[in-house]
Amino acid sequence: MTRRRQIYEGKAKIIYEGPDPGTVIQYFKDDATAFNAQKSSTLKGKGVVNNYISERIFTILADIGIPNHFIRRLNKREQLVRQVEIIPLEVVMRNVIAGTLAKRFGRDEGEKLTRPLIEFYLKDDGLQDPLVTDEHIAQFGWASFEEMHEMTELAIRINDCLCGLFAGIGIRLVDFKLEFGRIWDGDNCQLILADEISPDNCRLWDMETNEKMDKDRFRHGLGGEVEAYNEVARRLRLAIESDSDTILSFDQHRRSRSAKSKPDGSHDQETS
Ligand code: C5P
Repeated sequence: MTRRRQIYEGKAKIIYEGPDPGTVIQYFKDDATAFNAQKSSTLKGKGVVNNYISERIFTILADIGIPNHFIRRLNKREQLVRQVEIIPLEVVMRNVIAGTLAKRFGRDEGEKLTRPLIEFYLKDDGLQDPLVTDEHIAQFGWASFEEMHEMTELAIRINDCLCGLFAGIGIRLVDFKLEFGRIWDGDNCQLILADEISPDNCRLWDMETNEKMDKDRFRHGLGGEVEAYNEVARRLRLAIESDSDTILSFDQHRRSRSAKSKPDGSHDQETS
């Protein structure tokens, strides 16, 4: 077997050279990091479930005309995608106050926003991904005003589509992060959605119980990360070829947690 050339290794994925020009292979790792890599661990089976969930979401988005990098899933952990020139911005869409928005403005997590809020962050670990304005983006040349406008329009359409998709399976889409890239055809440049959309980069709350079904379980040490991700996949009716037989159902995880709950019958705080 020939060794593939690795192009890039990130915190949760590796990018390898693809079989054809203009393509790359996106490999989903089990590694998880949070708080700018101050917390890290390996969550067995996470990469597999994220691969399937992201495949489903990118396929649905392509169906509604959102240009994106996904070509096809190759196996349990890999997708063939189009090679893009990544725009060094993280585009965050929020429907409900949570995470850094709650912290930055001293607001309660769970408060509904009156309209979806879009934010741009610079992708720069060394600077801890700072929040940036349109003026910073244009001034430093990370994207043009036209590209910002296009990313905003696409993010709004993606948010509408995904809010409906998740609401249909009893999940509230609190917020999520998108990344975009450029593909070139001669002098013509097209902006397309890249990266992944999975419980690693969305906040997903069960609509009935407010339980977290996303990476906040890892960030806040709640446990049951892969069980929760698998529950998202189960509700999306994904048939996942898992490579771990030790993953509990989310319900089994809940029961084992309540058996281990504190002697006074209380649990770790989880819902908001
Ligand atoms: O942490 P914060 O509240 O800013 O995150 C907003 C959303 O963006 C969350 O869904 C989070 O998972 C996602 N995010 C991400 N990668 C980052 C920062 C945030 O996927 N580097």
